Formats: sequence, structure tokens, C-alpha cells
Amino acid sequence: MRTRGFAALAALSVALPLVLGGCTARQRTKIETSIATALVSEEDEEAIGDAIHAEIERQGGRFVRDPIVRTYVEGIVARLLPEVRRVKAVEDVHVHVLDDPDVVNAFATPGGHVFVHSGLLLAARDEAEVAGVLAHEIAHLAARHPARRMVWMYGASAVAGLALGKDPALLAQVAAELVGGGVLAANSRSAEREADDLALLYVHRAGWDPRGLVRFFVRLREGDGDVPAFLAWLSTHPTSTERIERLRSELRARGWEGGDENADGHAIVKERLRKSERPRRRPGA
Ligand code: ZN
Repeated sequence: MRTRGFAALAALSVALPLVLGGCTARQRTKIETSIATALVSEEDEEAIGDAIHAEIERQGGRFVRDPIVRTYVEGIVARLLPEVRRVKAVEDVHVHVLDDPDVVNAFATPGGHVFVHSGLLLAARDEAEVAGVLAHEIAHLAARHPARRMVWMYGASAVAGLALGKDPALLAQVAAELVGGGVLAANSRSAEREADDLALLYVHRAGWDPRGLVRFFVRLREGDGDVPAFLAWLSTHPTSTERIERLRSELRARGWEGGDENADGHAIVKERLRKSERPRRRPGA
């Protein structure tokens, strides 16, 4: 079944751009998601995610082991998950902190893995901003965007190979791109809008200030002394005026403002990260 499903998807992936050309963003998201759901099983997703995680470690990707930092990000995810599950059934989410202060990035892979580079935690001013970014990545998972994106990027048969453990070369390439702060192709704009809207909802319901995500976008765009030069998240999450204004008007329409920021708790985590920091690759950048 699996092979036939992927063959069908390979054919579809050629035909779909033509079919989807005339769709609205919402229709397109719906169609793409149902295809990924039908043809990439959750077991496949889990296998792909676990393989990527193992390959990242095999390639020497370093993870932050500091229990204070880990408890911090795991705590944020644990507080978000019940709100995610009020909207949609999702499996467990595993969060990993990659030890690279130069890279401002976060990404989600199939199988419920969220990776955040230590550079992103250092660039954030408070917990509300981190919660916004993690909520955005979890929203991609809940909507099954990572699996869909991999199918579009590498092709259905390649993704099937990953799920079956048949393509170590591609797996190594995917892991290297992720760890190096390189990026997989950006999600479609409709997927980004969907993840933004869900992120605001999760964060607000979990009690943080949903304006944190917007603030983080604005600061990435404008840059400041805290923000390292290598902004991988920015390259997949363009902070256009349109995006920021749309988020602000969503918040105004819903009357969502205020909530926890926890700048003090976040400052402690940043201090721990600075102490264990590796030498920067681009001094003075
Ligand atoms: Zn995104």
C-alpha cells in the first residue's frame, strides 16, 4: 500500500501545481494537507523524524544538555500542548536545543521533533517570544506541514526511501542542511499564515502574551545588538510588513493582548547558555 501510495503521490506532485494554480490559499492548504495525510503515514513520519535526529547526532550536531535550559524549553512545550490538543489530536512533541549561538533558527521535522538553536534563545528577549516561535513550529507539526514540505522538496519516492531507511545519502544531506543552519525550502505562504494564526491561539490560551511572536519578528527584521548575524529562521519566515500587520490586526480583532512574558526567567536561561557557549564562528558579526 505504501509503495502504491507514494507512486500515486509522485504522479500527483507533477499534476498538482497545475490543478492548484487556481485555488485560494485556504483550498490549497486543505488539498495539500489531505494528500500528505493520506500518503505519508504517521508511522513513516515518526521513522523519518527519528532518523533525522540520529543523523544530526552522528554528524556531530551538539545539543545543549544543561538541565535548566532543557527544562525551560520542555516546560514551554508542555504548557502549549494541551492548547494544541484542544484544536487537534497531536502526538508527543520532542524539543531539542542545538548548541549553536550563531544561528537564529528553529524548525520542525516529521515525527513530532522541534529543534531550536541556542542562538534563537539568545536572540529572544523573554519567554513570550520563545513560546511564540515554539508554538509556530508546533503548529506546523499539527498541520503536518513538515512531511508535506519534504515530499514537495525531495519527491515522494525519496521520502518513502527515508521512511524505509533506504536512502542514507539523502538523510545525511537533509540532516546537514538542518544543522548547518541551512534551510529546507520555506513553507508555502498559506502554511505560514496557518502556523502564525495557530501560534497566536495556542500562546494566548496558554497564558503568554501573544504579542511576543510579533515582537520577535519585528526585532529580527530591524536587528539589534542581541541578534546574531546568521538568521536562518528569517530566511524561511520573511518578516514582511504585510505579515506583521496581519498578525497585529488579528490580535486587535480578537482583543488579545497581555499575558505572561517572564523576562526574568528567560534571562537566567540566557545566562546559562552564555556560560556554556562555544566560540562564535563569526566574531564581531
Ligand atoms: Zn513557519
